[in-house]
Amino acid sequence: MALRPETSSELLIDGKLVPGSRGTFEVVNPATEEVIGNAADAGPDDLDAAIGAARRAFDTTDWSRDHAFRAKCLRQLRDALLTHSAEFRALATEEIGCPSFLTGGPQFEGPVNDLGYFADLAENYEWTRPLGEAKPMGIPNVREVRYEAAGVVGAITPWNFPHQINFAKIGPALAAGCTVVLKPAPDTPWAAALVGKVVAEETDFPPGVLNVITSSDHALGEQLVVDPRVDIVSFTGSTDTGRKVMASASQNLTKVFLELGGKSAFIVLDDADLAGACSMAAFNVVTHAGQGCAITTRLVVPREKLDDAIAATRDAMAGLPADDPSKPGTICGPLISAKQRERVESYIQLAKDEGGKIEIGGGRPAGKDKGFFVEPTLISGLDNSARVAQEEIFGPVLVVIPHDGDDDAIRIANDSPYGLSGMVYGTDEERIKHVVDGVRTGTMGVNGGIWYAADVPFGGYKQSGIGREMGVAGFEEYLESKAVARPA
Ligand code: NAD
Repeated sequence: MALRPETSSELLIDGKLVPGSRGTFEVVNPATEEVIGNAADAGPDDLDAAIGAARRAFDTTDWSRDHAFRAKCLRQLRDALLTHSAEFRALATEEIGCPSFLTGGPQFEGPVNDLGYFADLAENYEWTRPLGEAKPMGIPNVREVRYEAAGVVGAITPWNFPHQINFAKIGPALAAGCTVVLKPAPDTPWAAALVGKVVAEETDFPPGVLNVITSSDHALGEQLVVDPRVDIVSFTGSTDTGRKVMASASQNLTKVFLELGGKSAFIVLDDADLAGACSMAAFNVVTHAGQGCAITTRLVVPREKLDDAIAATRDAMAGLPADDPSKPGTICGPLISAKQRERVESYIQLAKDEGGKIEIGGGRPAGKDKGFFVEPTLISGLDNSARVAQEEIFGPVLVVIPHDGDDDAIRIANDSPYGLSGMVYGTDEERIKHVVDGVRTGTMGVNGGIWYAADVPFGGYKQSGIGREMGVAGFEEYLESKAVARPA
């Protein structure tokens, strides 16, 4: 089967690939601004049918109880997707604008392989746990707790790492025995739609277990959240939209799982290899043009080494220019859209208005008339109260902030509405531990450590979200527990 959609892709509803009732909408390559094809444009009736199908599949089939069959389907999907790896990877670079090296990791192959981890969990999870005997009110009872699939999941995802985020939701949700309606972001419909095509044509997933609804209309996200047939809303996106999702879900008291924004700190202690740390900070922030929620976007360095840190970061950024994402060696591709580029440029202007200095970058790269590129940019001269240090920019923009010792660095890291991730560089283990203990975030790297893996729970403190994705914790988000007792 060739994957490439020639004119349009299709929706997956109740096991069938169908056109969108509103026709199609354009898919744009962010590196060239060319229309590369179309995606099916779903309307409210399509979503309604998809939710109905997911509800039916959950309520009237054995899907939620047949752990071995689910594991088989997930492995089948993983293997089928991997046979199309070259095509998926090329399309990811065209549709998402992500540098091609990332498609061998989190932009495709990493999360596809992770489906095997969730298949293993479906088979090996302790679904029933005996609690032994107790005598409530003097009456002997034998008790157990059973874990069961929570029901229909409405999965709503963003455009920045669509494969990673789509699979981090559908993998554990399906492994847990839920059925799913996946609604991807309008900017990256193919990443989801083509998975739907593989599910329909190359796997044994029963009709309705996974439904994929692409649409140009954000309102379908809201429709999915308020539908009473949906048991869990699993959302990844901006904190502002997350707030709306939580408010809408309150109508039916639907459980929400939220992965939201970040403004993570990269802390350099005074005993660290400063140049090495600053190179890594530059690399992190330019990767995929900074369009990652867990990317460290505040570089917090010893005040007495501020000038050296700026020079080292500037030098590193100079070697990481924004470029064609399909070119080997490109680390910084384009932003996803003209709208996102305007947003990033407005923050760079804001930094100048607030008295910041642009140490490098700050504009569009010379010689690139097409594509939504912004140069890797380093801002100095501001403290942590500046808006560019507080708000998520979602571009290749790093703000350098001086600290006056380890506790001050922790204070700065925590002086944020977010708490998603972080990094610390140093040599003294006690001091590193003190910083890791003190920073209030869901993940922390030490000296370049990479925490991202299928078995690692990912998520945020504070306004970065509620709940954890991936790992056993991410799987358990899609379960309910049922306590059962009988007289002994
Ligand atoms: P977004 O919030 O604009 O949209 C995310 C999704 O929500 C899209 O599918 C959109 O159609 C849908 N949506 C929009 N309005 C809705 C509503 N009222 N109700 C329900 N759904 C609605 O986010 P984006 O611009 O696509 O992605 C970038 C954001 O995502 C950044 O803030 C980034 O930090 C965040 N993000 C977080 C994580 C994480 O795991 N914490 C990962 C990736 C991205």
